[in-house]
Amino acid sequence: MRYLSTRGGGAPKRFCDILLEGLAEDGGLYLPEQYPQVDAATLTRWRSLPYAELAFEILSLYIDDIPAEDLRRICAQTYRAEVFGGRSEITPLHQLESGLYLQELSNGPTLAFKDMAMQLLGALFEYELGRRGETLNILGATSGDTGSAAEYAMRARAGIRVFMLSPHGRMSPFQQAQMFSLQDANIHNLAVRGVFDDCQDIVKAVSNDLGYKKSRKIGTVNSINWARLLAQVVYYFAGYFQATKSNQEKVSFTVPSGNFGNVCAGHVARQMGLPIEQLVVATNENDVLDEFFRTGRYAPRSATHTHATSSPSMDISKASNFERFIADLFGREGARVMSAFTAPAFELPHTEFERLRAEFGFESGASRHAYRVSTIRACWQQWGRLIDPHTADGLKVALAARRPGVPMIVLETALPAKFEATLIEASGSAPPRPAALVGIENLPQRVQVLDADEAQVRAVIDRELGV
Ligand SMILES: *Cc1c(COP(=O)(O)O)cnc(C)c1O
Repeated sequence: MRYLSTRGGGAPKRFCDILLEGLAEDGGLYLPEQYPQVDAATLTRWRSLPYAELAFEILSLYIDDIPAEDLRRICAQTYRAEVFGGRSEITPLHQLESGLYLQELSNGPTLAFKDMAMQLLGALFEYELGRRGETLNILGATSGDTGSAAEYAMRARAGIRVFMLSPHGRMSPFQQAQMFSLQDANIHNLAVRGVFDDCQDIVKAVSNDLGYKKSRKIGTVNSINWARLLAQVVYYFAGYFQATKSNQEKVSFTVPSGNFGNVCAGHVARQMGLPIEQLVVATNENDVLDEFFRTGRYAPRSATHTHATSSPSMDISKASNFERFIADLFGREGARVMSAFTAPAFELPHTEFERLRAEFGFESGASRHAYRVSTIRACWQQWGRLIDPHTADGLKVALAARRPGVPMIVLETALPAKFEATLIEASGSAPPRPAALVGIENLPQRVQVLDADEAQVRAVIDRELGV
């Protein structure tokens, strides 16, 4: 399998080359040349596989530059019940009522679905860097979920250091404790006196200094990494197999969305032949994607026009993975993708707009704070299940979109324990915490506080590398 940029530039590459790269050189995102097709006999064979073996089967269709026995071992070591909440299914379905399910993706170490992909990414990075005799220094900015998922995936891994910037004093005490209590020598928490955008600007400035980036071996783990997306394809298959008895049946998924990474994995699964009826994109008040799927117009907004909401991991107005889907819609016409994503906005012609639903199964809906709170409360009262604010946005949209006779699976993207304040507002009491995280705020913390100054961040990196 070879990988190409959505914008058509550059030569085809192999998996392990794009694994360690971010964007393609022409500014596009990597996609496989074509999606491997899965026939009915293969689906039947996969139906009874444990999660780690299903992951191996799917990954091996896309990765031909890692020997099969190594890839199988990486999958087996990553998708272990001990790492994912003790459940052998890894992503179990929880039935709310007949035909309506939550798929639990948030039982990993940081209680959000990003662990599903990041844990695999950590294993793949360690493997490939070891094979090449190289090291990597991951530089990132986080306002919560991504940074902690990256740190828990990379901790204690050979050849990898993490430098993670976060806005000083602006994450919840629980989120801070999750990251700052890690004592691993290769994890460096840098709390910046500023807001998230200051952190992100510093990361961009350092990464744009190509000489520095190369000499210090700086890399990223952001959501455009194809390996992260590929890891997420697996749980759509796992969810489908749990909700159905035969491959004649179809299911629908509703996906709380921000950067379009999670639902894009659903699109890939559907393109491979998984019988998915609808892929429902759920947004919060930041509804750029909902607007697109309702009208055919994509108009990303700037950071200043992005609302801070009570489902913060979806506060995104420029969905970084969206270009992948548009490249498929445009028949991989690189020049057209390039002009769409270098323009301030674009609008689909009517015939193409109709294909979103008819051919690709996409639908959408938007939620907001009042719906989020009432959905958390209703889900608790009707079904006895506490859900987090992002999953609540998904459930709200799913209830309006679901069709009779087609099971609807809502992806659970975080556990309620991460979002105490909204849960207390909705349900009147604090959500329960997994036993391992009780009292985490009282553990000793490792963090360096810096000014919002690129030079100070470089100084920390250089001191650590002994440069
Ligand atoms: C990251 C995240 C999302 C959004 O996922 P995308 O892949 O960016 O669309 C939704 N919910 C939670 C809890 C998240 O952490």
